[in-house]
Amino acid sequence: MKAKIKVALVGGGPSALFVYKRLVERGRDDIVVEIFERKDSLGQGMPYSLEGANLEHITNVSSNELPDLVVPLADWVRALPRETLDHYGLRADSFGQSKVLPRLLFGQYLQAQFEALTDQASAIGLETAVHFGSVVTDIRDEPDRGQVAVQVDGAYDRVFDRVVICTGHNWPKTRENDVPGYYDSPYPPAKLARTHNHPVALRGSSLTAIDAIRTLARANGSFHRRSPHGLVYRAADGSEDFKIVMHSRSGLLPCVRFHLDDPQVSDDGLLGRQDLQRARRENGGFVPLDLIFEQDFKKPLEGKDPELYQRIKTMSLEQFVEAAMERRENSDPFALFKAECDEAIASLARKESIAWKEALAILSYALNSPAKHFCAEDMLRLKSVLMPLISIVIALVPQGSSEELIALHEAGRLELVTVGSESKVNIGAAGEIEYSYGESSRTFETFVDCVGQPHLNLDAFPFPSLVRQKVVRQARLTFRSAESALRHREKDPQSVQQDDDGSFHLLVPGLSINDSFQPEDWRRRPHRRIFVMAVPYIGGHNPDYSGLDFCADASARIVEALSAQDS
Ligand SMILES: Cc1cc2nc3c(=O)[nH]c(=O)nc-3n(C[C@H](O)[C@H](O)[C@H](O)COP(=O)(O)OP(=O)(O)OC[C@H]3O[C@@H](n4cnc5c(N)ncnc54)[C@H](O)[C@@H]3O)c2cc1C
Repeated sequence: MKAKIKVALVGGGPSALFVYKRLVERGRDDIVVEIFERKDSLGQGMPYSLEGANLEHITNVSSNELPDLVVPLADWVRALPRETLDHYGLRADSFGQSKVLPRLLFGQYLQAQFEALTDQASAIGLETAVHFGSVVTDIRDEPDRGQVAVQVDGAYDRVFDRVVICTGHNWPKTRENDVPGYYDSPYPPAKLARTHNHPVALRGSSLTAIDAIRTLARANGSFHRRSPHGLVYRAADGSEDFKIVMHSRSGLLPCVRFHLDDPQVSDDGLLGRQDLQRARRENGGFVPLDLIFEQDFKKPLEGKDPELYQRIKTMSLEQFVEAAMERRENSDPFALFKAECDEAIASLARKESIAWKEALAILSYALNSPAKHFCAEDMLRLKSVLMPLISIVIALVPQGSSEELIALHEAGRLELVTVGSESKVNIGAAGEIEYSYGESSRTFETFVDCVGQPHLNLDAFPFPSLVRQKVVRQARLTFRSAESALRHREKDPQSVQQDDDGSFHLLVPGLSINDSFQPEDWRRRPHRRIFVMAVPYIGGHNPDYSGLDFCADASARIVEALSAQDS
């Protein structure tokens, strides 16, 4: 009898859930899956457990935007016991496809889906072992035996044929443990849920900042409904001086959730794998960013918003971003935010998308796979030109959160400060937290870094043997021209590398991966046995890893590659 292939899933959050689902769907009765999870439940991961949410935190996707799992979310919610629904303030009869959900409850849904899949797996003969409370402390490649050793709680006690690293989010602590009032992230949110009778500084103004705002606002006051689309905020006794001061580079707020025509962000009609391969053959091995902009952004708009298409069809990427940003930069951010809330409410009521915003979300998703084949020059353009716009437009604020932001601002408890690209936080001799930017500086008692999941480098990768063995390597992209490499090296010497053959490369965050999420060496040869879908460590080659759509897509590619190896 042929021995079964042993597959380890390291981490048991949403990424592992989708990999497991793909294996079950393929009917793989020739493999044994072992799942190692640090905590005592599967599926919830970080954002949908107490590590990343309190009762007040909601998902930014609704039932109809979710990739398929076992039971549709709306059906699962409607079948919940009354006490659970009451606890989360939901009503089964009014819960529809377009509703977002408390994140903690959504975590329970994901957990239930994992359990349902383990039942399906055992029915088809796919053996599964789940190890709860098991921290994987290192992973070591064993090339001689063609296997990978997984160290659990400090002991190498298991070897596998394939390992998928699904360890997810990581916010390294820089000053949080040493400086009272300084928080490297708002997670776990319970740490912020206390009286702050003073201005609290947040760095960032996007979804991570909104998580912090929802917790801080409730701990220091309460919201009251005054109209169907309006709230008022009242500070609690003892929090008279409470205020939140958001700081962001551009002084802009993110966009508000609207109706999506294509809620699951499919890549239908976009450039496919063969198109991208052809593009690389025709462009010296690179996928041009301009091609993606033309084909995956402008072209879909031609049918969806012909009038807009006529206006932008001859614009370059730079011209389009400038035009889109101009309106935002010339408006008061809260006035614009209110106007966008009204536009979003109308879009949802009429079930009509806002075509350019949806197209931009699709573009952001579509960039992920080709980004690792960009030349360095295009990656620098992506980061400096397109990403600032994408980060505002695709971070869609749920209606409930947007009402709260407006109420806090109207109550004089929330402001937004533009700091440009050069802001810094200094800690004074007495532990005071000084936020400085341009000519200004201000001292805060409490500071919460809300810039979102940072892109981490190899020094933060949790499995040191793989770094030492050079199984994982720093991601980089090749410069098309030596002149632009030298120009960039003048500005940022550490980020440019020159090889013996004279070629120049831009170092980008995290590790080098191929389209199937296998780590690569510098000649871009993939490692057979290991797959990495832990989002913080692949940000250079996979810049938009927004959420569950990523989990669904990456898991499909991983399981396809894994299955191709075995056939
Ligand atoms: C605050 C927040 C809110 C979000 N909200 C949404 C949303 O509403 N909609 C959406 O689509 N996306 C959202 N996202 C995106 C989110 O990234 C993904 O939905 C998802 O969490 C990614 O899953 P993961 O399994 O890769 O990582 P994680 O969720 O971080 O899960 C990793 C799992 O691995 C375990 N683990 C880690 N290290 C080890 C180890 N060494 N040994 C054993 N186990 C380990 C952890 O305990 C955890 O269970 C949100 C992200 C954040 C941070």
